[in-house]
Amino acid sequence: MSFWLETAGDDLAPRPGIDGATDADVAILGAGMTGLWTAFYLKRRDPSLKIVVLEREIAGFGASGRNGAWCAPDLNISMSRLAKAHGRDAARAMQQATYDAVDEVGRACAESGIDAGFHKGGELILARGPQGIPALDSALEEYAAFGFGDHYRLLDAAQLSERIRVAGAVRALASEDAAVIHPGRLVRGLARRVEQDGVRIAERTAVTSFQPRDAGGRATLVTPRGNVRAPVVVLAGEAYLSELPGLHRQLLPLWSLIVLTEPVTDAQWAEIGWANREVVASTRMSVDYLSRTEDGRVLFGGRGAPYRFGSPIRRSYDRHGPTHEKLKAFVGEWFPVLRDVRFTHEWGGPLGMPRDWHPTMAFDEASGIATSRGYIGHGVSTTNLGGRVLADLITGTSSPLTELPLVNHRSRDWEIEPFRWLGVRYSQWAIGRVDAKAERTGVPPSGRSLAERIASH
Ligand SMILES: Cc1cc2nc3c(=O)[nH]c(=O)nc-3n(C[C@H](O)[C@H](O)[C@H](O)COP(=O)(O)OP(=O)(O)OC[C@H]3O[C@@H](n4cnc5c(N)ncnc54)[C@H](O)[C@@H]3O)c2cc1C
Repeated sequence: MSFWLETAGDDLAPRPGIDGATDADVAILGAGMTGLWTAFYLKRRDPSLKIVVLEREIAGFGASGRNGAWCAPDLNISMSRLAKAHGRDAARAMQQATYDAVDEVGRACAESGIDAGFHKGGELILARGPQGIPALDSALEEYAAFGFGDHYRLLDAAQLSERIRVAGAVRALASEDAAVIHPGRLVRGLARRVEQDGVRIAERTAVTSFQPRDAGGRATLVTPRGNVRAPVVVLAGEAYLSELPGLHRQLLPLWSLIVLTEPVTDAQWAEIGWANREVVASTRMSVDYLSRTEDGRVLFGGRGAPYRFGSPIRRSYDRHGPTHEKLKAFVGEWFPVLRDVRFTHEWGGPLGMPRDWHPTMAFDEASGIATSRGYIGHGVSTTNLGGRVLADLITGTSSPLTELPLVNHRSRDWEIEPFRWLGVRYSQWAIGRVDAKAERTGVPPSGRSLAERIASH
Protein backbone atom coordinates (compact mmCIF):
# COMPACT_ATOMS: atom_id res chain seq x y z
CA MET A 1 0.00 0.00 0.00
CA SER A 2 2.87 2.37 0.77
CA PHE A 3 6.54 2.30 1.71
CA TRP A 4 5.45 3.27 5.21
CA LEU A 5 3.25 0.23 5.82
CA GLU A 6 5.81 -1.99 4.11
CA THR A 7 8.48 -0.83 6.60
CA ALA A 8 6.23 -0.44 9.65
CA GLY A 9 7.84 -3.44 11.31
CA ASP A 10 4.74 -5.59 11.62
CA ASP A 11 3.19 -8.20 9.38
CA LEU A 12 -0.07 -6.25 8.82
CA ALA A 13 -2.11 -9.42 9.47
CA PRO A 14 -5.74 -8.34 9.84
CA ARG A 15 -7.20 -8.46 13.34
CA PRO A 16 -10.47 -10.37 13.79
CA GLY A 17 -13.60 -8.51 12.69
CA ILE A 18 -16.69 -7.79 14.74
CA ASP A 19 -18.74 -10.93 15.41
CA GLY A 20 -22.36 -10.03 16.00
CA ALA A 21 -24.14 -7.25 17.85
CA THR A 22 -21.82 -5.49 20.29
CA ASP A 23 -22.22 -2.86 22.99
CA ALA A 24 -19.60 -0.31 23.95
CA ASP A 25 -19.23 3.05 25.66
CA VAL A 26 -17.61 4.55 22.57
CA ALA A 27 -17.68 3.10 19.05
CA ILE A 28 -15.19 4.54 16.57
CA LEU A 29 -15.32 4.26 12.77
CA GLY A 30 -11.77 4.20 11.38
CA ALA A 31 -8.39 3.01 12.68
CA GLY A 32 -6.38 5.89 11.27
CA MET A 33 -4.65 8.53 13.35
CA THR A 34 -7.92 10.30 14.24
CA GLY A 35 -9.70 7.21 15.52
CA LEU A 36 -6.65 5.86 17.33
CA TRP A 37 -5.59 9.14 18.98
CA THR A 38 -9.20 9.58 20.12
CA ALA A 39 -9.16 6.11 21.69
CA PHE A 40 -5.71 6.81 23.18
CA TYR A 41 -6.77 10.03 24.97
CA LEU A 42 -10.19 8.70 25.98
CA LYS A 43 -8.46 5.84 27.77
CA ARG A 44 -6.22 8.36 29.56
CA ARG A 45 -9.28 10.33 30.71
CA ASP A 46 -11.17 7.21 31.78
CA PRO A 47 -9.42 3.81 31.66
CA SER A 48 -12.71 2.01 32.37
CA LEU A 49 -14.29 3.03 29.04
CA LYS A 50 -15.18 0.15 26.72
CA ILE A 51 -14.01 1.33 23.30
CA VAL A 52 -14.44 -0.52 20.00
CA VAL A 53 -12.79 0.67 16.77
CA LEU A 54 -14.24 -0.61 13.50
CA GLU A 55 -11.90 -0.59 10.51
CA ARG A 56 -12.90 -1.69 7.00
CA GLU A 57 -9.36 -2.75 6.03
CA ILE A 58 -6.47 -2.68 8.51
CA ALA A 59 -5.22 0.00 10.90
CA GLY A 60 -3.32 2.63 8.91
CA PHE A 61 -4.88 1.67 5.59
CA GLY A 62 -6.01 5.25 4.86
CA ALA A 63 -4.08 8.50 4.58
CA SER A 64 -2.49 7.90 7.99
CA GLY A 65 -0.36 5.08 6.56
CA ARG A 66 0.41 6.80 3.27
CA ASN A 67 1.28 10.43 3.88
CA GLY A 68 4.28 12.63 3.23
CA ALA A 69 5.66 12.29 6.80
CA TRP A 70 5.22 15.98 7.64
CA CYS A 71 4.21 16.51 11.23
CA ALA A 72 3.91 20.27 10.92
CA PRO A 73 1.98 23.08 12.61
CA ASP A 74 0.08 23.97 9.45
CA LEU A 75 -3.62 24.34 8.77
CA ASN A 76 -5.37 25.07 5.51
CA ILE A 77 -7.18 27.98 7.03
CA SER A 78 -5.27 31.21 7.63
CA MET A 79 -5.14 33.07 10.93
CA SER A 80 -6.64 36.16 9.26
CA ARG A 81 -9.65 34.17 8.19
CA LEU A 82 -10.02 32.55 11.60
CA ALA A 83 -9.71 35.99 13.21
CA LYS A 84 -12.42 37.40 10.96
CA ALA A 85 -14.83 34.65 11.98
CA HIS A 86 -13.83 34.06 15.61
CA GLY A 87 -11.66 36.98 16.75
CA ARG A 88 -7.93 37.51 17.09
CA ASP A 89 -7.47 35.64 20.38
CA ALA A 90 -9.18 32.54 18.98
CA ALA A 91 -6.97 32.64 15.87
CA ARG A 92 -3.88 32.93 18.07
CA ALA A 93 -5.03 30.09 20.32
CA MET A 94 -5.57 27.92 17.26
CA GLN A 95 -2.07 28.63 15.93
CA GLN A 96 -0.53 27.90 19.33
CA ALA A 97 -2.47 24.62 19.45
CA THR A 98 -0.88 23.57 16.14
CA TYR A 99 2.65 24.08 17.55
CA ASP A 100 1.65 22.18 20.69
CA ALA A 101 0.18 19.33 18.62
CA VAL A 102 3.54 18.65 16.95
CA ASP A 103 5.26 18.46 20.34
CA GLU A 104 2.47 16.35 21.78
CA VAL A 105 2.89 13.75 18.99
CA GLY A 106 6.57 13.48 19.95
CA ARG A 107 5.82 13.41 23.68
CA ALA A 108 3.00 10.86 23.50
CA CYS A 109 5.04 8.55 21.27
CA ALA A 110 8.04 8.73 23.61
CA GLU A 111 5.87 8.15 26.67
CA SER A 112 4.07 5.21 25.06
CA GLY A 113 7.10 3.50 23.55
CA ILE A 114 5.96 4.15 19.96
CA ASP A 115 9.04 4.37 17.75
CA ALA A 116 7.58 6.78 15.18
CA GLY A 117 10.96 8.16 14.09
CA PHE A 118 9.88 11.60 15.33
CA HIS A 119 12.63 14.08 14.41
CA LYS A 120 12.06 17.81 14.82
CA GLY A 121 14.20 19.03 11.96
CA GLY A 122 12.05 22.05 11.08
CA GLU A 123 10.31 23.21 7.92
CA LEU A 124 11.55 25.07 4.83
CA ILE A 125 9.20 26.71 2.33
CA LEU A 126 11.16 27.63 -0.78
CA ALA A 127 10.77 30.29 -3.43
CA ARG A 128 12.07 28.56 -6.55
CA GLY A 129 12.46 31.74 -8.54
CA PRO A 130 11.51 35.38 -7.94
CA GLN A 131 7.81 34.60 -8.44
CA GLY A 132 7.75 32.85 -5.06
CA ILE A 133 9.22 35.63 -2.95
CA PRO A 134 6.08 37.71 -2.24
CA ALA A 135 4.26 34.62 -0.91
CA LEU A 136 7.03 34.06 1.64
CA ASP A 137 7.06 37.73 2.63
CA SER A 138 3.32 37.82 3.14
CA ALA A 139 3.33 34.54 5.10
CA LEU A 140 5.93 36.03 7.46
CA GLU A 141 3.90 39.25 7.75
CA GLU A 142 0.83 37.23 8.71
CA TYR A 143 2.69 35.30 11.41
CA ALA A 144 4.21 38.54 12.73
CA ALA A 145 0.85 40.31 12.78
CA PHE A 146 -0.44 37.61 15.13
CA GLY A 147 2.65 37.65 17.33
CA PHE A 148 4.32 34.48 16.01
CA GLY A 149 6.99 36.20 13.89
CA ASP A 150 9.79 34.87 16.09
CA HIS A 151 8.97 31.30 15.02
CA TYR A 152 10.00 32.08 11.42
CA ARG A 153 13.06 33.38 9.61
CA LEU A 154 13.69 34.33 5.99
CA LEU A 155 16.82 32.71 4.53
CA ASP A 156 18.56 34.10 1.46
CA ALA A 157 19.97 31.76 -1.17
CA ALA A 158 23.36 31.48 0.54
CA GLN A 159 21.85 30.73 3.98
CA LEU A 160 19.48 28.21 2.45
CA SER A 161 22.29 26.41 0.66
CA GLU A 162 23.88 25.70 4.04
CA ARG A 163 20.76 23.62 4.81
CA ILE A 164 19.71 22.23 1.41
CA ARG A 165 20.72 22.86 -2.18
CA VAL A 166 17.70 22.98 -4.52
CA ALA A 167 18.00 24.18 -8.11
CA GLY A 168 16.48 27.61 -8.61
CA ALA A 169 15.78 28.25 -4.91
CA VAL A 170 16.36 31.92 -4.13
CA ARG A 171 14.82 32.33 -0.71
CA ALA A 172 13.11 30.31 2.02
CA LEU A 173 10.90 30.73 5.04
CA ALA A 174 12.35 28.55 7.80
CA SER A 175 10.86 27.42 11.09
CA GLU A 176 11.99 24.95 13.70
CA ASP A 177 8.50 23.83 14.73
CA ALA A 178 7.92 20.91 12.36
CA ALA A 179 8.96 17.28 12.63
CA VAL A 180 9.37 14.42 10.21
CA ILE A 181 7.97 11.04 11.25
CA HIS A 182 7.57 7.48 10.00
CA PRO A 183 3.79 7.44 9.50
CA GLY A 184 3.57 3.66 9.26
CA ARG A 185 5.37 3.07 12.55
CA LEU A 186 3.29 5.81 14.18
CA VAL A 187 -0.14 4.54 13.17
CA ARG A 188 0.64 0.84 13.59
CA GLY A 189 2.40 1.50 16.90
CA LEU A 190 -0.55 3.55 18.10
CA ALA A 191 -2.91 0.69 17.22
CA ARG A 192 -0.86 -1.76 19.28
CA ARG A 193 -0.64 0.75 22.12
CA VAL A 194 -4.39 1.34 22.41
CA GLU A 195 -4.96 -2.42 22.31
CA GLN A 196 -2.65 -2.73 25.31
CA ASP A 197 -4.87 -0.13 26.97
CA GLY A 198 -7.86 -2.42 26.41
CA VAL A 199 -9.32 -0.95 23.21
CA ARG A 200 -10.75 -3.50 20.78
CA ILE A 201 -9.84 -2.94 17.11
CA ALA A 202 -12.04 -4.96 14.77
CA GLU A 203 -10.58 -5.00 11.25
CA ARG A 204 -12.14 -6.06 7.94
CA THR A 205 -15.37 -4.61 9.31
CA ALA A 206 -17.06 -2.09 7.02
CA VAL A 207 -19.50 0.40 8.49
CA THR A 208 -22.32 0.94 6.01
CA SER A 209 -24.24 3.63 7.91
CA PHE A 210 -24.64 5.24 11.32
CA GLN A 211 -27.66 6.15 13.40
CA PRO A 212 -28.10 8.81 16.09
CA ARG A 213 -29.00 7.98 19.68
CA ASP A 214 -32.23 5.98 20.03
CA ALA A 215 -34.74 6.29 22.85
CA GLY A 216 -32.37 4.25 25.00
CA GLY A 217 -29.60 6.80 24.41
CA ARG A 218 -27.45 4.62 22.16
CA ALA A 219 -26.13 5.54 18.73
CA THR A 220 -25.24 2.83 16.20
CA LEU A 221 -22.56 1.89 13.69
CA VAL A 222 -24.19 -0.49 11.24
CA THR A 223 -22.05 -3.29 9.75
CA PRO A 224 -22.92 -6.48 7.84
CA ARG A 225 -21.19 -8.41 10.66
CA GLY A 226 -23.38 -6.95 13.41
CA ASN A 227 -24.21 -3.52 14.75
CA VAL A 228 -22.23 -1.74 17.42
CA ARG A 229 -24.27 0.36 19.85
CA ALA A 230 -22.78 2.97 22.14
CA PRO A 231 -23.82 6.27 23.73
CA VAL A 232 -21.07 7.86 21.63
CA VAL A 233 -20.14 7.11 18.03
CA VAL A 234 -17.01 8.73 16.53
CA LEU A 235 -16.77 9.15 12.75
CA ALA A 236 -13.03 9.16 11.99
CA GLY A 237 -12.89 8.14 8.34
CA GLU A 238 -11.71 11.42 6.73
CA ALA A 239 -12.15 11.31 2.91
CA TYR A 240 -13.92 7.93 3.11
CA LEU A 241 -16.70 9.46 5.19
CA SER A 242 -18.04 10.87 1.91
CA GLU A 243 -19.14 7.31 1.10
CA LEU A 244 -21.58 7.23 4.01
CA PRO A 245 -25.24 8.19 3.66
CA GLY A 246 -25.73 11.73 4.96
CA LEU A 247 -22.08 12.77 4.59
CA HIS A 248 -21.58 12.51 0.84
CA ARG A 249 -21.40 16.28 0.28
CA GLN A 250 -19.53 17.13 3.49
CA LEU A 251 -16.11 16.05 2.17
CA LEU A 252 -14.70 15.85 -1.31
CA PRO A 253 -12.01 13.21 -1.95
CA LEU A 254 -9.04 14.71 -3.80
CA TRP A 255 -5.94 12.62 -4.41
CA SER A 256 -2.46 13.42 -3.22
CA LEU A 257 0.29 11.32 -4.78
CA ILE A 258 3.82 10.38 -3.81
CA VAL A 259 6.99 9.00 -5.41
CA LEU A 260 9.94 7.67 -3.44
CA THR A 261 13.53 7.22 -4.61
CA GLU A 262 15.94 4.42 -3.82
CA PRO A 263 18.36 5.29 -0.99
CA VAL A 264 20.51 8.15 -2.27
CA THR A 265 24.29 7.66 -2.11
CA ASP A 266 26.47 9.52 0.39
CA ALA A 267 28.15 11.36 -2.49
CA GLN A 268 24.75 12.57 -3.74
CA TRP A 269 23.73 13.62 -0.24
CA ALA A 270 26.97 15.57 0.02
CA GLU A 271 25.82 17.62 -2.99
CA ILE A 272 22.26 18.08 -1.71
CA GLY A 273 22.91 18.71 1.97
CA TRP A 274 19.57 18.38 3.86
CA ALA A 275 21.39 16.80 6.81
CA ASN A 276 18.77 17.87 9.33
CA ARG A 277 15.87 16.28 7.40
CA GLU A 278 13.64 19.37 7.37
CA VAL A 279 10.24 18.94 5.71
CA VAL A 280 10.36 20.99 2.51
CA ALA A 281 7.86 22.51 0.07
CA SER A 282 7.75 25.34 -2.42
CA THR A 283 5.29 28.19 -2.87
CA ARG A 284 3.65 26.57 -5.93
CA MET A 285 -0.12 26.67 -5.57
CA SER A 286 -0.39 23.21 -7.16
CA VAL A 287 1.33 21.90 -4.00
CA ASP A 288 4.55 19.97 -3.58
CA TYR A 289 5.93 18.46 -0.38
CA LEU A 290 9.16 16.64 0.32
CA SER A 291 10.75 14.73 3.14
CA ARG A 292 13.93 12.76 3.61
CA THR A 293 13.49 9.27 5.06
CA GLU A 294 15.62 7.84 7.82
CA ASP A 295 17.23 5.48 5.30
CA GLY A 296 18.20 8.30 2.95
CA ARG A 297 15.47 8.37 0.30
CA VAL A 298 13.73 11.42 -1.15
CA LEU A 299 9.94 11.45 -0.89
CA PHE A 300 8.28 13.86 -3.34
CA GLY A 301 4.54 14.40 -3.13
CA GLY A 302 2.05 16.56 -4.94
CA ARG A 303 -1.45 16.89 -6.27
CA GLY A 304 -2.56 16.86 -9.89
CA ALA A 305 -4.77 13.80 -10.29
CA PRO A 306 -8.09 15.07 -11.66
CA TYR A 307 -11.22 15.16 -9.51
CA ARG A 308 -13.69 12.47 -10.61
CA PHE A 309 -17.34 13.13 -11.30
CA GLY A 310 -19.56 12.10 -8.38
CA SER A 311 -16.65 11.82 -5.88
CA PRO A 312 -16.13 8.03 -6.09
CA ILE A 313 -13.27 6.43 -4.14
CA ARG A 314 -11.51 3.50 -5.82
CA ARG A 315 -8.23 1.73 -5.07
CA SER A 316 -7.17 2.27 -8.68
CA TYR A 317 -7.13 6.05 -8.14
CA ASP A 318 -4.21 5.67 -5.70
CA ARG A 319 -2.01 5.62 -8.80
CA HIS A 320 -2.17 8.23 -11.53
CA GLY A 321 0.50 7.68 -14.18
CA PRO A 322 0.80 11.24 -15.53
CA THR A 323 1.01 12.78 -12.04
CA HIS A 324 3.49 10.19 -10.78
CA GLU A 325 5.68 10.79 -13.86
CA LYS A 326 5.54 14.54 -13.27
CA LEU A 327 6.60 14.07 -9.65
CA LYS A 328 9.55 11.93 -10.77
CA ALA A 329 10.60 14.67 -13.19
CA PHE A 330 10.40 17.23 -10.37
CA VAL A 331 12.94 15.23 -8.33
CA GLY A 332 15.47 15.61 -11.16
CA GLU A 333 14.61 19.29 -11.60
CA TRP A 334 14.98 20.10 -7.91
CA PHE A 335 18.09 17.96 -7.42
CA PRO A 336 19.99 17.64 -10.74
CA VAL A 337 22.35 15.13 -9.12
CA LEU A 338 19.35 12.78 -8.86
CA ARG A 339 18.40 13.00 -12.54
CA ASP A 340 19.03 9.27 -13.01
CA VAL A 341 17.88 8.10 -9.59
CA ARG A 342 15.69 5.00 -9.47
CA PHE A 343 12.19 5.20 -7.98
CA THR A 344 11.20 2.24 -5.86
CA HIS A 345 7.68 3.23 -4.75
CA GLU A 346 4.73 5.27 -5.90
CA TRP A 347 1.38 5.51 -4.18
CA GLY A 348 -1.34 7.96 -3.24
CA GLY A 349 -4.52 8.44 -1.31
CA PRO A 350 -7.55 10.67 -0.91
CA LEU A 351 -7.51 13.88 1.11
CA GLY A 352 -10.79 14.95 2.74
CA MET A 353 -11.68 18.47 1.54
CA PRO A 354 -14.49 20.35 3.29
CA ARG A 355 -16.26 22.96 1.14
CA ASP A 356 -14.91 25.83 3.26
CA TRP A 357 -11.41 24.29 3.83
CA HIS A 358 -12.15 24.49 7.56
CA PRO A 359 -11.47 21.31 9.60
CA THR A 360 -13.92 20.39 12.31
CA MET A 361 -13.78 18.62 15.66
CA ALA A 362 -17.29 18.15 16.94
CA PHE A 363 -19.55 16.29 19.35
CA ASP A 364 -23.32 16.56 19.32
CA GLU A 365 -24.71 15.46 22.67
CA ALA A 366 -28.26 14.98 21.28
CA SER A 367 -27.29 12.52 18.54
CA GLY A 368 -24.25 11.04 20.30
CA ILE A 369 -22.22 11.57 17.10
CA ALA A 370 -18.66 12.93 17.28
CA THR A 371 -16.25 13.56 14.43
CA SER A 372 -12.89 15.10 13.61
CA ARG A 373 -12.21 15.59 9.92
CA GLY A 374 -11.44 17.86 6.98
CA TYR A 375 -7.69 18.26 7.50
CA ILE A 376 -6.98 18.28 3.74
CA GLY A 377 -3.18 17.77 3.56
CA HIS A 378 -2.36 18.68 7.16
CA GLY A 379 -3.66 15.82 9.24
CA VAL A 380 -0.63 14.27 10.90
CA SER A 381 -0.44 16.67 13.83
CA THR A 382 -4.06 17.82 13.56
CA THR A 383 -5.41 14.30 14.11
CA ASN A 384 -3.60 14.30 17.45
CA LEU A 385 -5.24 17.61 18.34
CA GLY A 386 -8.57 16.19 17.12
CA GLY A 387 -8.14 13.15 19.38
CA ARG A 388 -7.55 15.34 22.42
CA VAL A 389 -10.42 17.70 21.58
CA LEU A 390 -12.84 14.78 21.11
CA ALA A 391 -11.68 13.13 24.33
CA ASP A 392 -12.48 16.37 26.19
CA LEU A 393 -15.82 16.90 24.45
CA ILE A 394 -16.95 13.30 24.94
CA THR A 395 -15.99 13.17 28.61
CA GLY A 396 -17.53 16.60 29.25
CA THR A 397 -14.19 18.10 30.24
CA SER A 398 -14.16 21.79 29.49
CA SER A 399 -10.64 22.90 28.59
CA PRO A 400 -8.88 25.51 26.45
CA LEU A 401 -9.01 22.93 23.65
CA THR A 402 -12.80 22.81 23.65
CA GLU A 403 -12.84 26.59 23.07
CA LEU A 404 -10.77 26.39 19.85
CA PRO A 405 -12.43 27.82 16.75
CA LEU A 406 -12.44 24.46 14.93
CA VAL A 407 -14.70 22.98 17.61
CA ASN A 408 -18.25 22.19 16.53
CA HIS A 409 -17.76 23.91 13.18
CA ARG A 410 -19.85 22.52 10.34
CA SER A 411 -18.82 23.22 6.78
CA ARG A 412 -21.52 23.88 4.24
CA ASP A 413 -22.11 21.06 1.74
CA TRP A 414 -20.37 20.76 -1.61
CA GLU A 415 -22.49 21.61 -4.63
CA ILE A 416 -24.42 18.86 -6.34
CA GLU A 417 -23.05 17.45 -9.57
CA PRO A 418 -22.32 18.49 -12.27
CA PHE A 419 -21.55 21.85 -10.60
CA ARG A 420 -19.08 20.25 -8.18
CA TRP A 421 -17.17 18.60 -11.02
CA LEU A 422 -17.17 21.77 -13.13
CA GLY A 423 -15.96 23.97 -10.26
CA VAL A 424 -13.25 21.65 -8.97
CA ARG A 425 -11.92 20.70 -12.40
CA TYR A 426 -11.84 24.37 -13.38
CA SER A 427 -9.89 25.25 -10.22
CA GLN A 428 -7.40 22.43 -10.76
CA TRP A 429 -6.81 23.51 -14.34
CA ALA A 430 -6.61 27.23 -13.55
CA ILE A 431 -4.22 26.81 -10.62
CA GLY A 432 -1.88 24.76 -12.83
CA ARG A 433 -1.96 27.59 -15.40
CA VAL A 434 -1.25 30.26 -12.78
CA ASP A 435 1.80 28.29 -11.55
CA ALA A 436 3.06 27.62 -15.08
CA LYS A 437 2.79 31.30 -16.03
CA ALA A 438 4.56 32.46 -12.86
CA GLU A 439 7.38 29.97 -13.43
CA ARG A 440 7.73 31.00 -17.09
CA THR A 441 7.75 34.74 -16.49
CA GLY A 442 9.20 35.00 -12.97
CA VAL A 443 6.30 37.33 -12.16
CA PRO A 444 4.36 36.47 -8.98
CA PRO A 445 0.70 35.56 -9.37
CA SER A 446 -1.51 38.63 -8.94
CA GLY A 447 -3.64 36.99 -6.25
CA ARG A 448 -6.72 38.36 -8.00
CA SER A 449 -7.69 35.54 -10.37
CA LEU A 450 -10.69 33.41 -9.52
CA ALA A 451 -8.48 30.32 -9.11
CA GLU A 452 -6.20 32.11 -6.64
CA ARG A 453 -9.10 33.43 -4.64
CA ILE A 454 -10.49 29.89 -4.38
CA ALA A 455 -7.06 28.48 -3.42
CA SER A 456 -6.23 31.20 -0.88
CA HIS A 457 -8.65 29.89 1.74
C1 LIG B 1 -0.80 10.98 -0.10
C2 LIG B 1 -1.07 11.78 1.14
C3 LIG B 1 -0.06 12.56 1.68
C4 LIG B 1 -0.30 13.30 2.86
N1 LIG B 1 0.74 13.95 3.44
C5 LIG B 1 0.56 14.56 4.64
C6 LIG B 1 1.68 15.07 5.35
O1 LIG B 1 2.82 14.94 4.94
N2 LIG B 1 1.43 15.70 6.52
C7 LIG B 1 0.17 15.84 7.03
O2 LIG B 1 -0.01 16.44 8.08
N3 LIG B 1 -0.90 15.29 6.40
C8 LIG B 1 -0.72 14.63 5.23
N4 LIG B 1 -1.78 14.03 4.62
C9 LIG B 1 -3.09 14.04 5.30
C10 LIG B 1 -3.10 13.11 6.50
O3 LIG B 1 -2.43 11.92 6.18
C11 LIG B 1 -4.55 12.82 6.87
O4 LIG B 1 -5.21 14.06 7.10
C12 LIG B 1 -4.69 11.99 8.14
O5 LIG B 1 -3.88 10.84 8.08
C13 LIG B 1 -6.15 11.61 8.32
O6 LIG B 1 -6.24 10.64 9.33
P1 LIG B 1 -7.65 9.96 9.64
O7 LIG B 1 -7.42 8.97 10.69
O8 LIG B 1 -8.65 11.04 9.90
O9 LIG B 1 -8.08 9.30 8.27
P2 LIG B 1 -7.47 8.00 7.56
O10 LIG B 1 -6.05 7.81 7.87
O11 LIG B 1 -7.87 8.07 6.12
O12 LIG B 1 -8.22 6.81 8.29
C14 LIG B 1 -9.55 6.53 8.06
C15 LIG B 1 -9.73 5.04 8.29
O13 LIG B 1 -11.12 4.75 8.26
C16 LIG B 1 -11.32 3.55 7.57
N5 LIG B 1 -12.68 3.58 7.04
C17 LIG B 1 -13.16 4.46 6.13
N6 LIG B 1 -14.46 4.21 5.88
C18 LIG B 1 -14.80 3.17 6.65
C19 LIG B 1 -16.02 2.46 6.84
N7 LIG B 1 -17.13 2.77 6.16
N8 LIG B 1 -16.05 1.46 7.74
C20 LIG B 1 -14.93 1.14 8.45
N9 LIG B 1 -13.75 1.78 8.29
C21 LIG B 1 -13.69 2.78 7.41
C22 LIG B 1 -10.27 3.58 6.48
O14 LIG B 1 -9.99 2.28 5.98
C23 LIG B 1 -9.10 4.21 7.18
O15 LIG B 1 -8.22 3.27 7.75
C24 LIG B 1 -1.58 13.29 3.45
C25 LIG B 1 -2.60 12.52 2.90
C26 LIG B 1 -2.35 11.77 1.74
C27 LIG B 1 -3.45 10.94 1.17
